[in-house]
Amino acid sequence: KAKELGKAQAVAFNPNMRGTTVTPLDMETDLRRAIERGELTLRFQPIISLANGRIQGFEALARWTHSKRGEVPPSDFIPLAEETGMIVEIGQWVLRTACERTVRWRDQFPKAEPMEISVNLSSRQFHQYDLVRMVTNSLEGTGMDPSLLKLEITESALMENAHLSAQMLNDLKSLKIQVCVDDFGTGYSSLSYLHTFPIDTLKIDKSFVQDMGRNRHNLEIVRTICLLAQNLRLDVIAEGVETPEQLAQLRAIGCGFAQGYLFSPPLDVDGVERLLGENRSW
Ligand code: C2E
Ligand code: MG
Ligand code: MG
Ligand code: MG
Repeated sequence: KAKELGKAQAVAFNPNMRGTTVTPLDMETDLRRAIERGELTLRFQPIISLANGRIQGFEALARWTHSKRGEVPPSDFIPLAEETGMIVEIGQWVLRTACERTVRWRDQFPKAEPMEISVNLSSRQFHQYDLVRMVTNSLEGTGMDPSLLKLEITESALMENAHLSAQMLNDLKSLKIQVCVDDFGTGYSSLSYLHTFPIDTLKIDKSFVQDMGRNRHNLEIVRTICLLAQNLRLDVIAEGVETPEQLAQLRAIGCGFAQGYLFSPPLDVDGVERLLGENRSW
């Protein structure tokens, strides 16, 4: 028994494994300190209006640069933050930082058209009881124009409890902000609910967009979502646009907005400032 235990400990403390194996507990402790250590940053990916080829706004995307592990993708640390409740603090930081940055860019680029900023909310954030107060604080604390802030909520988070979601959306809309349904097409929306939600934009999930060329079925899904958006008087964004062919198809379908590596990857602050300075269009 003792030998077995000793063996187990030897494995647990094997120096070769240190640094390579990071237990969830380590990750949790590290994530807790990430904000104060300045390891969290934001990247900004432009969203292009297909009507004029110009930048309509940016989506803020969180990045965590871990001191030892390097970049941890949001698909790893956002779920961890959700499970542990840290998403509340992280989300607050993201929203505040994104608003601050947008306000600063408005001053820096007075001739640019007003740009929108989209910020992702996870399911837990969306159901946070003091979300409206948190958003109000971020708007007032930074001087951000509410009409230029767009909160992205995934279709599946909205549909978890459609009745509560409708109420939360109404509360948020009273702040005069915009709401976008993210990853649309993957979350089994009831169309009758969709019609009652006070939303502004549908963002088509990239899985449909990326497969449009090869899969006729997905092209039809994208077309149908664009028509649906048009009928409901909503804006529609295609995410994950990577090729000129996809862009041409989206333009032919009449999709209003697009986002993806074809235009630009998510950029750091310098990258955004360079892009805005270039005054580009597509
Ligand atoms: P999302 O909100 O659907 O964001 C789109 C993701 O697609 C981003 O991944 C973006 O970098 C990526 N992307 C953009 N263009 C392309 C493209 O052309 N091709 C491909 N293959 N991918 C593209 P990212 O930054 O890794 O974020 C992943 C997810 O993590 C986001 O999905 C969002 O759900 C979540 N997330 C990111 N930042 C935050 C945040 O600040 N708060 C919350 N709650 N969630 C976040
Ligand atoms: Mg998003
Ligand atoms: Mg998405
Ligand atoms: Mg997604």
